[in-house]
Amino acid sequence: MSAAIKRKGTRPAAVPEGAPPFKKVLIANRGEIALRVILACKELGIQTVAVYSEADRNALHVRFADEEVCIGPPPSSKSYLNIPQVIAAAEVTGAEAIHPGYGFLSENAHFVEVCLACGINFIGPSAEIIRKMGNKAQAKATMQAAGVPLMPGSDGVVETVEEALVVAEQIGYPVIVKASAGGGGRGMRIVNSPEELPDLYHTARSEAKGAFGDDSVYMEKYLLEPRHIEVQIMGDLFGNVVHLGERECSIQRRHQKLIEESPSAALDPDLRRRICETAVRAAKAVGYYNAGTIEFLLDRRGDFFFMEMNTRVQVEHPVTELVTGIDIVKEQLHIAAGRKLSFTQEQVVQKGHAIECRINAEDPFKFTPCPGRITALNFPGGPGIRVDTAMHQDAVIPPHYDSMVAKLIAYGADRSEAIARMRRALDTLVIEGIKTTAPLHRRIMDHPDFISGAFSTKWMEGFIEEMKQDLAGNEVR
Ligand code: ADP
Repeated sequence: MSAAIKRKGTRPAAVPEGAPPFKKVLIANRGEIALRVILACKELGIQTVAVYSEADRNALHVRFADEEVCIGPPPSSKSYLNIPQVIAAAEVTGAEAIHPGYGFLSENAHFVEVCLACGINFIGPSAEIIRKMGNKAQAKATMQAAGVPLMPGSDGVVETVEEALVVAEQIGYPVIVKASAGGGGRGMRIVNSPEELPDLYHTARSEAKGAFGDDSVYMEKYLLEPRHIEVQIMGDLFGNVVHLGERECSIQRRHQKLIEESPSAALDPDLRRRICETAVRAAKAVGYYNAGTIEFLLDRRGDFFFMEMNTRVQVEHPVTELVTGIDIVKEQLHIAAGRKLSFTQEQVVQKGHAIECRINAEDPFKFTPCPGRITALNFPGGPGIRVDTAMHQDAVIPPHYDSMVAKLIAYGADRSEAIARMRRALDTLVIEGIKTTAPLHRRIMDHPDFISGAFSTKWMEGFIEEMKQDLAGNEVR
């Protein structure tokens, strides 16, 4: 048995103050988030190991890591999701810890157990916590016990159409059928009447089966024009849990986030305090540690309801970093090494305003994927602009993965300065060779509803309709 295996357990021995939290970390991811973790490791004096698929041989995360290991062919199931290959890469390079980023293996409880059994630290919460929160139906039950407000809905999983009809009648239409194992907006169906329910119930189940290998679904009341408000949480192994304020992610298309910001224009100080305190209570109820996010829906009356918890770093973490000045990824590494949180709740202050636009390799008006080679590239800079990306000149965007190619983040003293900076950043962003959603973001930044903060998760639907008519009008002219 190796020395590492003897360290088995969720609590690593604390690393002395001042020393890097780990000597060597493997990043089990690709793209901008792999690079983001590598940058944090470089600042902390940690050696890095990149893993990559054959499609990512020339990727920046491979170029900037200290060591790299090819873990398989392009499909994720054969590379980035291939647990034995990832673990073998950590073992041959002597990496002490694995940072999973988001997506891929980041919320896979079995992977966390394998890491632990092999004496490798997983940079995130325990397998037990991931299991508890990963199953959304179960997470809701846990939250109810902790006194967190829930959306009216089924009591756990809904097994049959007959049961679904009864639940829907009780909570009132419209309802939403959601996959218990859901994520990325998949496995959800909105149902407006009992006639529609049987078909949509079955489609949600089969989509869930296909996407997550688990066809269990639950139901809740479907709110018509809610806002998506989430709270960033950080906790350590000593039971300290703090929040880093909220993010608003209501600008979505098909339940997928496009724009995120912090703070939210929809909250007054009292509502902000109540939402954030509820999130801390929710996290404490499961003994949460490392970085996590509690997602809520906020209705027009100012009532908010727990939706789900993400037990990993989020795509949109940079907006929180910019307004709080806290480096979430570095903090994750310190926590995983057994250190106490480096700040208290009182020390967390939201200052200024940050907005993030997700730039996807997609047709900006039809939303079809547009992989390909980048022939010319200019990233914006200047005051208050951060670009998180792994794109580079001549990079080939492979068709196998997520279409997000960059995150453009603008910071300002207030919301209007952040918007003004985002506009000029989008005006000086050049990406040639592939189509991206940048022109869509540029239009949103000029829209009176976005500028005034009057939007909900429904807003994009109307905006896209408006845009289509506008474009059709231009063609006629
Ligand atoms: P996923 O994990 O797939 O992202 P979520 O549960 O986080 O799924 O929901 C994603 C989005 O779907 C939310 O941000 C919201 O826009 C919409 N949504 C989910 N549940 C409801 C609901 N009960 N009422 C209205 N919209 C909902």
